[in-house]
Formats: sequence, C-alpha cells, structure tokens
Amino acid sequence: MDFLLTADQRAFRRELREWVAPNLPVNWRNGHFTKSLTEAERGAALRAWEGQVHAAGYAGLHWPKAYGGHGLTLIEHLIFGEETGRVGAPEGINPIGRELVAGVLLHAGSEEQKLRLLPRIAACLDVWCQGFSEPNAGSDLTSLKTRAEQRDGAWHIQGQKIWTSYAQHADMCLLLARTSIEKKSNQGLTLFAVPMTTAGITRRGMQQIDGTWDFNEVFFDDVTIPLASAIGPVGQGWAVSGAVLAIERATTRLYRQARYVNELQHAHRVARSRSPGAMVTADTRQKIADIYSELLVLRALNVRFVGRIVAGENVGAEASILKQCWSHFHQHSTTGIAEILGVDHWFPPTDDLDCQRFLPVYFHSRAETIFAGTSEIQKDIIAERLLDMPRRR
Ligand SMILES: Cc1cc2nc3c(=O)[nH]c(=O)nc-3n(C[C@H](O)[C@H](O)[C@H](O)COP(=O)(O)OP(=O)(O)OC[C@H]3O[C@@H](n4cnc5c(N)ncnc54)[C@H](O)[C@@H]3O)c2cc1C
Repeated sequence: MDFLLTADQRAFRRELREWVAPNLPVNWRNGHFTKSLTEAERGAALRAWEGQVHAAGYAGLHWPKAYGGHGLTLIEHLIFGEETGRVGAPEGINPIGRELVAGVLLHAGSEEQKLRLLPRIAACLDVWCQGFSEPNAGSDLTSLKTRAEQRDGAWHIQGQKIWTSYAQHADMCLLLARTSIEKKSNQGLTLFAVPMTTAGITRRGMQQIDGTWDFNEVFFDDVTIPLASAIGPVGQGWAVSGAVLAIERATTRLYRQARYVNELQHAHRVARSRSPGAMVTADTRQKIADIYSELLVLRALNVRFVGRIVAGENVGAEASILKQCWSHFHQHSTTGIAEILGVDHWFPPTDDLDCQRFLPVYFHSRAETIFAGTSEIQKDIIAERLLDMPRRR
C-alpha cells in the first residue's frame, strides 16, 4: 500500500500515529487492560474508546459523509487499522457493526436505513452482533431453521442462534432468517436489523477456552419487528451476505497483521531479558525471522487485495485465498511466539496481567480457521470456483 499512498494519505498516517498512543484508554497498555475488569466494565471501556475514535474523526473513514462517514477510501480505513494494531490499541467492541453491518448497509440497505443506522455505528451508540450460525447450521447456513413470517403488517421471528459474539453487549442484531422455502436452499433467506431489546429475545452467555464470555446463544420467541426491518430484497439475504463476507475476508486484517508484529517484538524483548548479555538463542532468532517474514508477506498480500478492491475490482472467490493465508499465518505466528515466550510466561504463577497479554491473542488465532468460514469451506470455494473442479454433492 505504501507505494500507492498519496501525500494526503501519508500525512494522515503521521497524524494518526501522533494521535493514537497518547489517547489509549486509561488502564490499557500493550494490547490489554492492566487491571481486571468485570464484563460490564470492559464493555463500557471499549465503547468509550470507540466513542473517542469517533470524536477524533477517525470512525467511518471510508463511508459517505451523508451517513456519518468522512468520504475517504478503504485505504485510510486500513491505515487506521494498521496504526492501531501497531501499538496494540483496542480493536473495540463493535467490529461487527463497523466492518460487516456497515458493508451490508452500504451495499444493500435502504436510504432510510443508511441514514438512521450508520451514524449510530460510527459513534458506537449501537453495538451489533451477527445472528447467522445455529446449532445445526454453521458452514451450511442454507439449512438454518430460524423463521421470519409476515403477519398482521409485521415480521414475526422464531428460532435460535449460537456462537453470537458480543451479543451480551449488543444493541442490534444482523439476523439471517428463512422467509420462504424455495427449490434452491440458498434462496428464501432474508437479512434483518433487529433491536436486541425487542420483547421475546433471550441471550445466554457461553464461556470460551480463554475464560472470556464473548459467545452467546440468542433465542427468538415470536419476536415482532416492523416490515421495514428487512435489509436488501426479501429472499435475497444469501446473495447480499455472501458479497459482504467476501469483502470481509479480503480486507479487515491489517489491524491483526500489525498487532502480531507487535506481539513478536514483545516476545523478542522477553527473550532478550532472559538471556545473558541480551543475546537470544539461535533457535529464537530463526523463529523470529521466520515469523516476521511471513507477516510481511501477509501484509503485501493484504495490500494487493485492498489495491484491487479500491480500483473497483470484484475479488470474489479469491478472497478465500487471503482468508486461508491470514488464518494459517496467524496460527503459525502465535505458535512460534508461544514457544519463544514459554508456557511459564503466559501462564505465570501470579495474576500478572502483563504476562497474560498474549493469551487472548493466542486463543483468538486458534479460532481464525473457524470463523468467517472454516478452512475446509475456503478450500472448497477455491477448488470449485477458482479451479473449476467438480462441485461436491
Ligand atoms: C471466535 C468465533 C466467533 C464467532 N462468531 C460468530 C458470530 O458472531 N455470529 C455467528 O453467526 N457465528 C459466529 N461464529 C460461528 C462460525 O461462523 C461457525 O463456527 C462456522 O461457520 C462453522 O460452523 P460450525 O461451528 O457449525 O461447524 P460445522 O459447519 O458443523 O463444521 C464442523 C467441521 O466440518 C467441516 N465441514 C463442514 N462442512 C464441510 C464441507 N462441505 N466440506 C468439508 N468440510 C466441511 C468444517 O470445516 C469443520 O471442520 C463464530 C465462531 C468462532 C470460532
């Protein structure tokens, strides 16, 4: 991306670099809170951070001004991701709203929805969750069972979602539900914007391997919402979300890439502090060089995709190649960093939050080959749509 940057974009990067470090939340250092917080406190602190980003003029950078954005390009948005990842700033609490829902609304929302919903996402007044997966519908979303029926001038929703990240803090849900049975199972699905305070919605938290409670089950029991809550054409939810998921797979990773470089530097400092004369072992040097090279290759790949999207190209199924790369490179990086730090470091005998900073990064990387489409699904897409191999039954 650097060689594509205009003088204004380079100035934007410098300005941002000066803003981020002194404006990080209180009690936040190197990618983590420096004191234990309750879930509600954590949610409030992360909302406040996104509010601060908005107040400083860095939210919705590439959205049109009419919808609360700044009319810049995806490149400025990615510079923001890279600069915040570089110093381990919080990723925030509303990535689904910012990255996914905003894309859906800009692509397929009505004018009224864009004007009403996007400025609230930019200011982090509405945190969103994504209600797609169900107990028996994950990779194959076309088999989802949640129904939305039109009755008495409203939509009535019945069903259950699972693995719903951030639902415990969410004000709104981007819901995928079946609105009709069609010959082709990927037709007859519709996207909805559902306020999470609507009567009939119940959330139940689920604990993850790292001890956090970011997952939820969400139950919809005759939840009634206005007809105008459908996003995009009724029955076309699959096509709309597919187009946006492809963009998500291709473009949202520069924060993480920069963040992993930051963690690698941290591991290097830890290794030096342990070694006589601050010389790390040959094995550690090899690992650091190996991971660093991969992360730079990954950055180059990200940048190439961004360049193509900004130039108006539809990257389509090729997004799956990038998704494969970022999820696997990230796991390779965190495995190597974990080895450099050593288990004693990231499971310290005391409640040393500074040591434990790496734990959530490590566990998050393990999930990357599952969310946004598993690796097997990406490989199917690559085989069928890019290599023209026979479709699975
Ligand atoms: C950290 C995290 C956050 C998430 N957040 C959300 C969220 O906010 N909202 C939401 O809706 N969902 C969320 N998910 C759920 C995620 O989208 C699903 O877990 C994912 O789509 C896989 O679905 P599944 O778990 O039902 O597994 P399954 O689809 O049952 O897959 C099980 C295994 O079978 C393999 N498999 C399935 N089908 C095929 C096939 N056709 N060919 C080859 N192999 C196949 C899969 O690759 C996998 O290894 C999240 C998941 C994680 C890990």
